[in-house]
Amino acid sequence: MAITAPQQSLYEIAIEQFEQAADLIGLEDELRQILRTCKRELIVHFPVEMDDGSVKVFTGYRVHHNLAAGPAKGGIRYHPNVTLDEVKALAMWMTWKCAIMGLPFGGGKGGVRVDPKLLSPGELQNLTRRYTTEISLLLGPHQDIPAPDVNTNPQIMAWIMDTYSMHRHGGVGVPAVVTGKPTLLGGSAGRLEATGRGVVFAIEEAAKTYQIDLATARVVIQGFGNAGSTAARLLYEQGSRVVAVSDSRGGIYNPRGLDIPAVMAYKQQTGSVVGFPEADPVTNEQLLELPCDILIPAALEEQITEHNASRIQARLIAEAANGPTTPEADRILFDRGVIILPDIYANAGGVTVSYFEWVQGLQHFYWTEEEVNSRLRTIMTRAFHAIHATAERYRVQLRTAALVLAVQRVAEITRLRGIYP
Ligand code: NAD
Repeated sequence: MAITAPQQSLYEIAIEQFEQAADLIGLEDELRQILRTCKRELIVHFPVEMDDGSVKVFTGYRVHHNLAAGPAKGGIRYHPNVTLDEVKALAMWMTWKCAIMGLPFGGGKGGVRVDPKLLSPGELQNLTRRYTTEISLLLGPHQDIPAPDVNTNPQIMAWIMDTYSMHRHGGVGVPAVVTGKPTLLGGSAGRLEATGRGVVFAIEEAAKTYQIDLATARVVIQGFGNAGSTAARLLYEQGSRVVAVSDSRGGIYNPRGLDIPAVMAYKQQTGSVVGFPEADPVTNEQLLELPCDILIPAALEEQITEHNASRIQARLIAEAANGPTTPEADRILFDRGVIILPDIYANAGGVTVSYFEWVQGLQHFYWTEEEVNSRLRTIMTRAFHAIHATAERYRVQLRTAALVLAVQRVAEITRLRGIYP
């Protein structure tokens, strides 16, 4: 019987990436120990009354990886496969992401093990309010500020804000306790699209540097939710050919290019991109290996592995999703000259506009969408050039370069603050 090596957990992957960067900069052992550890890991089990009167107990998490630079920032994910290990990895990546973008936040993440598609709107609201209450000892506009992630959205952020405000503020809304809210409640213009828009800004900078012509580029996108569908629409609007997209049910492919607004309308009507006319069906596995210039994984983690990395045809991979590429696949792709815009940079548009939203919420003073988008572009562009220069200097891939910048910054903040007491 063949013995296969056990798959690396997501947190092990995050640690391996961190260690590579730490080795490169010769990070001292004390800081290594601090930065590879999550500061707080809260696990909650809580009951929710279902519509039929029965009670179900759910498990949720909220993790703070590191708070050296500021309050914890990071999304909340609802998914049946959420684990503490996954949330810890995502929290660590949030620390690095905020550091790369120069945001005054530490890294956090949360999740509930649930398939929200099986809940009624009332059950979803009850679950959200109870989970918020359970983790509320960590939350606050100067402690921990959640945001949307997989299967959570502005409505869920509104319930989180309302629950916190009821408990702590006599019902008066505290807008800065959560980001990704509806604009009527103090959400930022441009936040809903910020992750996908940031991915496109990152691609534009990379295209200039690596001479990729976006006017003729063929793009493949895995995942057609918040991040993926926004990136698809913006690339389509500027003339790139989006040849394939997918969601959890499967993918669609048309080498001549998909009419993305029509695909969005189709998904709105039917709940999936699958079955869209004027396209051929493909599986999510086949989709990753289609002929294209730019591949955007925008679904879940560990999609590009040592099993398919050698067959990826894209020249550029822009990681809208967190953790879509395993370290082994990273090495194969780097050797093949495929450029990867790493998650901790490529999808940081979301947390950057969350930062804008938090600032606006604290000041009760709101910006226009043009201001938001133009500031986002400035920060994404600056970060790209910093990462690219670091990659050239150390002769490493962009992911390691991004981590070097992040780890250096958080390490320096920690040195300055000192070890308490
Ligand atoms: P979402 O829930 O809006 O969309 C997820 C999409 O992925 C859906 O289309 C879903 O059908 C699809 N999907 C799920 N499982 C799949 C599978 N096995 N194969 C193919 N498709 C699958 O979530 P989102 O907010 O767009 O998040 C997507 C990724 O982007 C996640 O990795 C998330 O952590 C990351 N991200 C999101 C944000 C944000 O602001 N929303 C910010 C940074 C990073």
